[in-house]
Amino acid sequence: MEHTADNCIFCKIVSGEIPAERLHEDDKFICIRDVRPQAKVHLLLVTKRHIPSLDELYAKTGAPGVGEAALEVATAVARKQGLLPGGFRLVINTGGHGGQTVFHLHIHLLGGNDLEGTFG
Ligand code: 5GP
Ligand code: ZN
Repeated sequence: MEHTADNCIFCKIVSGEIPAERLHEDDKFICIRDVRPQAKVHLLLVTKRHIPSLDELYAKTGAPGVGEAALEVATAVARKQGLLPGGFRLVINTGGHGGQTVFHLHIHLLGGNDLEGTFG
């Protein structure tokens, strides 16, 4: 299946077609809760633009500043959600082997409990 903006679940959430609580919103990102949480707190920082993956962001689309802004916003959201100073983890699954299932760029923000040395 092609991963276009037309059949993209995150585009529908960004546009409001599918309602979701927004824990954060700015000109570049929204932050929502993951429907299948893998930690006590599991949030998704989702780009407003339909960028299919990290590969497209850097190799094709060329959107200067998005990566840096994402790290800054993710850290601010983590702080606002009470995950600091305890700590948190950011994950970006990229492509099939990376475990990416939704092909619209997003950062997993995990925390709220001790994640130990495991990933995912
Ligand atoms: P990926 O595997 O692409 O890195 O992560 C996709 C994530 O999106 C998964 O953790 C999955 O649980 C979450 N997810 C899939 N569909 C929806 C949805 O409709 N709403 C929300 N909030 N999360 C979703
Ligand atoms: Zn999309």
